[in-house]
Amino acid sequence: MTPTGSALTAGVIGQPIGHSLSPLMMSRWIQDAGLDAIYTPYIATPHMFAPIVSALFRAGLKGLNVTLPHKTEALRLSHRISDRAERIGAANLLTSIDGEVHADNTDAIGFISALRTSGHDPAAKNALVLGAGGAARAIVDGLIEAGVSGLTICNRSRARAESMRADLAPNAHIGTWDERNDALLEADIVVNATSLGLSDQPELGMDWSQAKSSAIIADSVYVPLETGFLRTASEAGLTTVDGLGMLIEQGRPSFTAFFGQEAPETTDIRSLLIQALATRS
Ligand code: NDP
Repeated sequence: MTPTGSALTAGVIGQPIGHSLSPLMMSRWIQDAGLDAIYTPYIATPHMFAPIVSALFRAGLKGLNVTLPHKTEALRLSHRISDRAERIGAANLLTSIDGEVHADNTDAIGFISALRTSGHDPAAKNALVLGAGGAARAIVDGLIEAGVSGLTICNRSRARAESMRADLAPNAHIGTWDERNDALLEADIVVNATSLGLSDQPELGMDWSQAKSSAIIADSVYVPLETGFLRTASEAGLTTVDGLGMLIEQGRPSFTAFFGQEAPETTDIRSLLIQALATRS
């Protein structure tokens, strides 16, 4: 329906924000659900993030998805923080409830739901996570909650991997960045949670020869949809899961938090987003 003056409002805030697929995804869900609602992109410099969030919530906004570079700052301005956002140290979802800002993180659920939607349950599996930044922290938290039996972390900076282990995964094994190919021997699930492979970044090079033939190879990057990491894994005969599923599945709980109902399944949202990505390249 066409939004009225009583429309519920929500949005996504970041810098840059022009590339975000969230407005397209959320607006289609709003349309399919027949809601009187609007979802808008907002740009904010780090300096302006807190005042803009505060003004938007005072003006009646229901909630915000938060993207780079504000996910850590989002915690600092919140009155209430979910346990998982606290553990991960970042929030991608802010909601306004009774005048208070609530922070949550749906990236962890998003990653696990994307794996499960693709038919892969991480429970009782050995996982290898490459990276130790914000996305890796969410993915590691999700994998632990999903019941992985073992976890190895390889990151370029060992100190960051150790800090992640201390905060989230005390039983994890830490390998050096150069040991990532050897770590494939034991891994049932391998995740690229680095920014390598993004369209403006170098590829994450792997030698898949030691990987289990049954291993599932997942990427957090979705621009491009098929990174070199996934393409080479696929060429080696391994099963792959791209990063778009994580984006869609982190959006579903956000939609529910904003509008009080589940995102409809009417539209093939994945095809819609793939189409949008294709027109940009
Ligand atoms: P961060 O900047 O927090 O972390 C970047 C990570 O990449 C670090 O582990 C860093 O290692 C590693 N890295 C960067 N450059 C190199 C390099 N040249 N060699 C080896 N390692 C490198 O970013 P985020 O964690 O926030 O984001 C990571 C990715 O996750 C992004 O591509 C983002 O698009 C994606 N993402 C996807 C989502 C989705 O819904 N699909 C949601 C959120 C994020 P070091 O610690 O040594 O610097």
